[in-house]
Amino acid sequence: MYEKFQVHLQHQLNEIESAGLFKNERILVSAQGPEIRTSAGQEVLNFCANNYLGFSNNPRLIAAAKAALDSHGYGMSSVRFICGTTNLHKELEKSIADFFGTEDTILYAAAFDANGGVFEPLLTDEDAIISDTLNHASIIDGVRLCKAQRFRYSNADMEDLEDQLQQAAPCRYRLIVTDGVFSMDGNVPPLDKIKALADKYDAMIMVDESHSAGVIGKTGRGTTEQFNLRGQIEIITGTLGKAFGGAIGGFTTGKKEIIGMLRQRSRPYLFSNSIPPAVAAAGIEAFKIMTSSTELLDKLHENRSYFVEQMTRIGYKIKPTQSGICAVMLGDAKLSQEVASRLLNEGIYVIGFYFPVVPKGEARIRVQLSAAHTHDQLKKVVAAFEKVGHDLQIL
Ligand SMILES: *Cc1c(COP(=O)(O)O)cnc(C)c1O
Repeated sequence: MYEKFQVHLQHQLNEIESAGLFKNERILVSAQGPEIRTSAGQEVLNFCANNYLGFSNNPRLIAAAKAALDSHGYGMSSVRFICGTTNLHKELEKSIADFFGTEDTILYAAAFDANGGVFEPLLTDEDAIISDTLNHASIIDGVRLCKAQRFRYSNADMEDLEDQLQQAAPCRYRLIVTDGVFSMDGNVPPLDKIKALADKYDAMIMVDESHSAGVIGKTGRGTTEQFNLRGQIEIITGTLGKAFGGAIGGFTTGKKEIIGMLRQRSRPYLFSNSIPPAVAAAGIEAFKIMTSSTELLDKLHENRSYFVEQMTRIGYKIKPTQSGICAVMLGDAKLSQEVASRLLNEGIYVIGFYFPVVPKGEARIRVQLSAAHTHDQLKKVVAAFEKVGHDLQIL
């Protein structure tokens, strides 16, 4: 049997490769950070990590993780409800709830699991999920695992959301689901308008704050802070894999009955291992740093503003953004790959995205800023974009 299947897979892999869609992995031999070393011996400036606050290699997080290795060991060898809960897990759950102004939190091995396990325990075929078309793949998969009726609205389009809410009116409960920052554009949905529509049509809201937590809002507490809606959104999901340390782990935080039901019924929580104590301890430290000062958050936004200003000045078009994500629009798919590859020769590591990841004709380079980038590094990335832009005559 395997011989036939092998030919079949090889054929598909070849097709992926000839369509130019094959994903190669670059191997880093240094810690994650603004400057990285690859196994090819190259030193490059890194503008494609979700390392918004520079926590991936933050000494305080590393020290907290090391201390927890000594006090609590390496692994839990258990799911949470058998013997996988330490005081560190409980403390991290409380830190997250305090940070977002919510009632309770449940941890997962990843935000992918948080989203995969949130819908099915809460909603049935009598209910409706109304989801933004640009929501993350893990939300789409989570919705698939649930029997609720599905409604989709165009990205951040409030007219379409209202239409869908009207169509979902006969259902028992309605849940609107949106990302807090959309990963390909860097835009924030109008959560105040979503809330007004939710109130008008008697719906609940879930926001996935994976790219927005630690980044959006005056003190980085996410979109609910930006729109003065702290405590008013029923469900927030998020990751520890981006701004909050970049290691591993996800969470759902919100109303206590919702979290209570997830602890009883959410399958990725019940049937998957507990996060390591060292990760929990570093997470607690991340929230301490975030709560004590906005220095890193302010630096991130300063860096983002500088980058957008300078890139616009030299003639690039950047999608409106309030986050750490800047979409440098190029249009043509091949061009985006050519620009990315020339930037790499200039010592800048960025990734070009094109159809089907983004709409046809909207190919782009996604540049992700970090509080850890220095002014000098930002000047270098702009200068490299300027040189490559002139060489390719696109400016
Ligand atoms: C990155 C991301 C996830 C997945 O997070 P992991 O913790 O890495 O699984 C989920 N949702 C959104 C919106 C994301 O950006």
